[in-house]
Amino acid sequence: MNILVINAGSSSLKYQLLNPDTQEVLAKGLCERIGIDGKFTYKPAGKEAVKDKDVSMPTHSEAIQTVLHALVDEKNGVIASMDEIDAVGHRVVHGCDTFAHSVRITDEVMAAIEECNPLAPLHNPANIIGIKACQELMPGTPMVAVFDTAFHQTMPPVAYTYALPYEYYEQDKVRRYGFHGTSHKYVSQRAAAMLGKPIEELKLISCHLGNGSSITAIDSGKSVDTSMGFTPLAGVPMGTRSGDLDAGILEYLMNKHGYDIDQMLNVLNKKSGVLGISGVSSDFRDLEDAAPKGNQRAQLALDAFEYSVKKYIGAYAAVMGGVDAIIFTAGVGENGPDNRANIVSGLEYMGVKIDREKNNVRGQEVDVATADSKVRVLVIPTNEELMIAMDTAALTRK
Ligand code: AMP
Repeated sequence: MNILVINAGSSSLKYQLLNPDTQEVLAKGLCERIGIDGKFTYKPAGKEAVKDKDVSMPTHSEAIQTVLHALVDEKNGVIASMDEIDAVGHRVVHGCDTFAHSVRITDEVMAAIEECNPLAPLHNPANIIGIKACQELMPGTPMVAVFDTAFHQTMPPVAYTYALPYEYYEQDKVRRYGFHGTSHKYVSQRAAAMLGKPIEELKLISCHLGNGSSITAIDSGKSVDTSMGFTPLAGVPMGTRSGDLDAGILEYLMNKHGYDIDQMLNVLNKKSGVLGISGVSSDFRDLEDAAPKGNQRAQLALDAFEYSVKKYIGAYAAVMGGVDAIIFTAGVGENGPDNRANIVSGLEYMGVKIDREKNNVRGQEVDVATADSKVRVLVIPTNEELMIAMDTAALTRK
């Protein structure tokens, strides 16, 4: 079964054609600068990537058409015809409290996704454009929507309710939603497989640490709390996002510097996080380069990030009454041995002991805890595309 996975942004579109049963990726790539000057990257399995500039992509429809042509191309194609695409899985950022699972896309589902747009005004409309473009070009092919928020819909009210006047929740849907759900779900399932235990018997803390980061408490396979909130701005400090802060700071800075709300949010989303503290970079590799050379703010940025992740781990162990495994995933989680070691250092009292030698890995699925560690520490490369393809296959298999 071949599933085309589409992750559409406002001017870009990532795609992957894969078989969820064998996990074989047939081809993947990226359309960029849609509506500008069209850049197309296509990487068929086992062959060199093809990169084209100035490809005519005035809209997402031409971008997807370019992808489909490449997939069936005589020279570099990986399938003989579009009939070999059994279904399309679309990443959708926000499913509000309407979608607790992935769904087959129907007209009613499209209308319900559109109703979620005000909660993710930058992302959902782009996702919808991607779906509509695919529907137009592949009218008979089943489509599935997979939501970043769906996995967290199992959170109890005590975890998702903000201490605001209750009508903001009832009337305006202001609550914690959480994001990166597809990644947290995937790595939690892999963790259960690695530990050889049913997920229903496990308490897991999943640390998705990348350019955007979130920590999730997963009890019996269900998300029970997560660090991102109403928007993906909350939680730990990220590449350029502030994470949690005192809302009173907004009023103070806006008054002092004459910022309007857009300028203030630009600071919080684009100029804060480890970039803001360090003044060096949002990329952890640059910080790890600068800190040992004596850049104290780069060191402080790394320390503040690791400190914050550690606090969430402690909080979520408290919430679940213990933890069986801590999972590290995404760019920093998979590739940052020092970040992982620093985050779990001092958690020995909880039964967390890391093996420094085993921990010296990047991008592999490994248990890096010592043999006698009560809590396992798992490095698990995330694979959101595979999770989307698996959900899509499950909902469309005849
Ligand atoms: P992601 O958003 O998951 O793609 O993660 C991106 C972040 O992962 C980048 O900002 C890098 O700082 C970090 N990253 C990627 N590779 C490495 C590495 N080898 N060592 C440390 N950090 C890395």
